[in-house]
Amino acid sequence: MMDDFRLWFRVPSDYEVSPSGDMFIAAGLFPAMVSGDDIEIESRGPISSKLFTGIMRLQEIYHCWNPVLKKIGMHGKMSVSEPKNPGVASFFSGGVDGAYTLLKHKEEITHLIYINGFDFEMKEEDFAKVITSRRRVTDSLNKTLIPVSTNLNSFMARNKIGSQLRYGSCLVSVAHLLGFPKTYIPSSQTYNNLQPNGSHPLTDPLWSNEATELIHDSAHLKRTEKTQLLIENDVIRNNLFVCWENPYQNCGKCPKCIRTMITLKILGVKSSAFPKDLSPRDIQRLRIENKLHRPYFYQNLELAKQKNNQKMLKALKKAQRRNAILLFIKDLDRRYLGEIMSRSVRYIKRRKASNMAERIMPSPEQ
Ligand SMILES: [Zn+2]
Repeated sequence: MMDDFRLWFRVPSDYEVSPSGDMFIAAGLFPAMVSGDDIEIESRGPISSKLFTGIMRLQEIYHCWNPVLKKIGMHGKMSVSEPKNPGVASFFSGGVDGAYTLLKHKEEITHLIYINGFDFEMKEEDFAKVITSRRRVTDSLNKTLIPVSTNLNSFMARNKIGSQLRYGSCLVSVAHLLGFPKTYIPSSQTYNNLQPNGSHPLTDPLWSNEATELIHDSAHLKRTEKTQLLIENDVIRNNLFVCWENPYQNCGKCPKCIRTMITLKILGVKSSAFPKDLSPRDIQRLRIENKLHRPYFYQNLELAKQKNNQKMLKALKKAQRRNAILLFIKDLDRRYLGEIMSRSVRYIKRRKASNMAERIMPSPEQ
């Protein structure tokens, strides 16, 4: 129980699970930092001494990124945690980052972990279908896919922890539950473009305990570079899954689908993982004002220049100009019109905005 919430994880019975309290520390840290309450762990689930030290530094970083997150204490029995399952694990949902880490460390990685209740919450029968689809990739490389279900996302959402902040600690929680000696966390940002984020090269290793070393992998490569390296594998290319909107199939419409389709188009390759061809309108509608999404747009622009793909370069520059005009209008509205235009748009989007505004993000500006 976490306060009055029954937090659960479900893993196949072939695997041992850790009895330590470390997974609950990972799950409970942000809700506790928001409320300012200390964490008390029952004596039957001891805390790793190494993780305890890491958590003190993690709190300094998170508090510096977003002062809404207050520093708190932790109380419980200390111990040295031990590995529970042999092998090396990595997280894998079918996307570019996870697929690249899998290929890069294919000689070393033995297990891939896929979580239901992380990006999406699916019914068990639907999750089983998705697992069958992800196994096309993992079976082709002779790796074992471990399906894990949890209600961790509901717990975080109930505590108003935004997905951008919570996702790293959700991964860490599952890594500590399974207790492989080493677990890779595929990077999403690059070292030269880091923003406060739930999973970050600065923070991920600090979540390690004595049993599990957590490695933030391949932040030296842009997503376009990773894509170039993995498209040579037909099975991976035709089973890429990147969507934010639909857990079963790439929707071909959301920003993450569109930016991946743009990269593939620039590289001149087709993937049967996407339901439709990219249209000029899809590119024009891209928004690049968000700090976290902007680098991916510029990565595609740079790739189009490198590949001398004039058609795509023209389409991306048109989207860039459209975004610049929208920003200019927004600025005019703010300075001279008292935000009349913005307020009208906000009214239309009120329901969505009210949900988002309550969420705690890695930094106040996000
Ligand atoms: Zn999509």
